[in-house]
Amino acid sequence: MPEFRTVRGMRDFLPEEANLVRYVEATARELARLYGYREVITPVVESYELLAAKSGEEIRKRMYAFTDLGGRRVALRPEFTASIARLVATTMRNEPKPLRLFCTGSLYRYDEPQFGRYREFWQSDYELVGSKNPEADVEILTLTNDLMRKLELKNYWFKIGHVGILRGILGHENVGEEEQNRVMQLLDKKRWDEALTLIRGLKVSEGGVKTLKKVFETRGKDFRRVLKGVERRIGGYDDALSALANLREILELTSESGAEFEMVVEAGFARGLEYYTGMIFEVFVPEIDVALGGGGRYDRLVELFGGESTPAVGVAHGIDRIALAMSRQKIPPRIPKEPRVVVIPLSAQLKTWALEISLKLREAGVCAEVEVMSRTLTRALQDADRRGMTHTVLVAPEELREGLVVLRDMEKREQRRVRVEDLGREVLRS
Ligand code: AMP
Repeated sequence: MPEFRTVRGMRDFLPEEANLVRYVEATARELARLYGYREVITPVVESYELLAAKSGEEIRKRMYAFTDLGGRRVALRPEFTASIARLVATTMRNEPKPLRLFCTGSLYRYDEPQFGRYREFWQSDYELVGSKNPEADVEILTLTNDLMRKLELKNYWFKIGHVGILRGILGHENVGEEEQNRVMQLLDKKRWDEALTLIRGLKVSEGGVKTLKKVFETRGKDFRRVLKGVERRIGGYDDALSALANLREILELTSESGAEFEMVVEAGFARGLEYYTGMIFEVFVPEIDVALGGGGRYDRLVELFGGESTPAVGVAHGIDRIALAMSRQKIPPRIPKEPRVVVIPLSAQLKTWALEISLKLREAGVCAEVEVMSRTLTRALQDADRRGMTHTVLVAPEELREGLVVLRDMEKREQRRVRVEDLGREVLRS
């Protein structure tokens, strides 16, 4: 037989990594509870057409797409938003708004594997559906900030922009939506020069090209200054101006509401997904040059899927990428330490007792394992130490005759005799 390995771009998570990833997921789930987002579980396989509709060229090209045995054109989901928009446009169309929905699970993109980029990855996704107001955008930003804080990530920062600024200028210059998308794709990859060359080729006025070039270059930490600078340059482009006013309102409200986080406002910031219509953002840490999460406003997607015109804003956090950032920053998961016990029968005749005692321990809520390797006592104790077990229970014939076992505290290296009925309580107390 050949030596089997994981398929390129796919990973195994060994217990410690799995533990960290699940910790991030549990924290994300707790956040959903705190913000009132209800969980939905959507399928991994969706129709190709749905997923391809507005995801953008980059994602479309990289979908795990195939024809199923029934001849349907399907794909593994590369993101959650399309599935949520499908739900809102169909099954959940009559649900009162706003709808706050949460989902988590694995996604698939045939990306070129590199540090922090895999072909199977996990996200926690939050969608706030039904509100066009800036407070909805603020909620999504605040929620992301809270996740970073709860996980104790350090020095993280937000990159924030608004697709309406660039689209407003391009639209005014008679650049059609398809071409706009091509420009945005290049900007998403920070290929500003190529974007400018493309724009020049699209017969944008000389003034327009100059304005766009300036907008691409405008970024900074002080959002009021950045926005003022952009405003001066985009006079006459009315749609771009109202996009800018919207972004200003969102950022003012965020800052007035007391949420504090580092941000860089970037007027030429674009994201690969085509469905965004408003504020967009990503969150980074210095140790990793790819984003830990990203989101934005998409007011036309539900309508595109046949639903009523429904504004929405959402965010997806990369769970495994966040776990990677935590490892880089040496942040351990804050999981309370719980007792872990090994029950060791001192002779083969006492196996039944060891099994029975382990059942009682688990009933009391204690993690209990039975020594199953027929090791000598010394070896079994060494192994328990190596694996960081907090206690061992020695099942010996003399003690058992009196209804007792020996409970050994592996950290304090002390042992005492305990009644079998009291064992669970005693372990939890010590
Ligand atoms: P997107 O759906 O492209 O907005 O991505 C949202 C978040 O998902 C990103 O910020 C990443 O944290 C994560 N993500 C996207 N693509 C990948 C990937 N190929 N591998 C790992 N994480 C990813």
